Amino acid sequence: MVSDEEVAYAILEPHFDAVRDVFADYEPEPGHALVKLNGTKLLVDSAVRDSQRHFAACRDDGLLIVLAPQAAYLDHNTLVPLICHEFGHAADFLYPARWELRRNRPAIWVPEGAPKMAKRRNAWNARNDDSVEWAADSIAQAVVGRPIQYCGPCMLQCFSGGQPRPSNLR
Ligand SMILES: [Zn+2]
Repeated sequence: MVSDEEVAYAILEPHFDAVRDVFADYEPEPGHALVKLNGTKLLVDSAVRDSQRHFAACRDDGLLIVLAPQAAYLDHNTLVPLICHEFGHAADFLYPARWELRRNRPAIWVPEGAPKMAKRRNAWNARNDDSVEWAADSIAQAVVGRPIQYCGPCMLQCFSGGQPRPSNLR
């Protein structure tokens, strides 16, 4: 007998892999793809679903994205931007202080050897929760070329018809 988690994994994995390929192949500067994202793994675990709007999380080393089994039954117009948001976190965590966050606009890549990296790193470590969330969307927008928006009563991710992420959305 196949568990709910295994069925959900079978549904979610191809979507996860497709989004990961888009992120890992993205070259913020010519010849420099985001190859570290090839190491980001998928875990399907219902423990992540601790509230109505929680379907996903990214571990703070960027190497694990957890999706709730229920995410397998979300509309593609929700699921794909939701996974993009999580990969935005992964790209942020795996390339710390290498993105200049712009709220509701695409993040700008900070090249290797840019000035004031120590200062950037300190500011990156001191970010609040909203800044971390906005960074994920800003990076995702840079990579996929579409803004991540929030739709519906649960304010789940969407690509159109919603609004930018508000403050204090958890
Ligand atoms: Zn997030």
